[in-house]
Amino acid sequence: MRKKLVVGNWKMNGGQARNVALIDGLKGAIPEGVDVVVCPPYPYLAQVKALAGELGVGLGAQDLSEHSAGAFTGDVAAPMLRDVGCEWVLVGHSERRTLHGEGDQLVAAKISAALDAGLAPILCVGETLEERDGGRAEEVVSSQLASVVSQLGAVAMAGLVVAYEPVWAIGTGRTATPEQAELMHVCIRESLAGAGVAAGVVRILYGGSVTAANAAALFAKPNIDGALVGGASLVAENFSSICVAAAAS
Ligand code: PEP
Repeated sequence: MRKKLVVGNWKMNGGQARNVALIDGLKGAIPEGVDVVVCPPYPYLAQVKALAGELGVGLGAQDLSEHSAGAFTGDVAAPMLRDVGCEWVLVGHSERRTLHGEGDQLVAAKISAALDAGLAPILCVGETLEERDGGRAEEVVSSQLASVVSQLGAVAMAGLVVAYEPVWAIGTGRTATPEQAELMHVCIRESLAGAGVAAGVVRILYGGSVTAANAAALFAKPNIDGALVGGASLVAENFSSICVAAAAS
């Protein structure tokens, strides 16, 4: 059985005082039976490690460099993330793909760097509204996956978490219905299995305007193994309610 995983992506939000308040609000509010991770901005990783560690909440970064060290101004390497206590890292978030032009090849190189350093990568995939309206959602997501599988190989892929995040649902308040999400999660699992990946062990998260109100219905679907949460992860009560819904499912 796949244990549910809830990951909070704080994006470019936070501050030392605000982080303390947010983590304080999670004290005693994170249930057993679910893996919980938060991904603060780089400058706060060490602070949040110290605060969240005692809650049993894991630490993730929002991105990483494909290089392990050197003259790459502004970049952060996987071994550095490990050094400050990260266990997880998001790779290929749609905001990186869209705003920073990251393509599948770079995404695969970043995943490889993460795995080499002992980080657990969370590979984000998802289609735009135009692609969905054009009937190409499954084709786009399968191709994003195939490109990574072809560079990493099936064995490495089994060590990944995949987050299905339809771009049209991120930060828009418009969520995929549980049925739409489940259909895509099945498609992702089948694509992975078709490429020889041990797909039954891969956790596939849904991301895109997950809230305390819609989480339970999403988690009730058999192939939705948790959530990648943006906006709702910035409010302790909302984030903990999503974790509680995951634990109860
Ligand atoms: C995200 O940033 O990965 C995300 C899903 O954001 P939101 O929950 O705000 O849509």
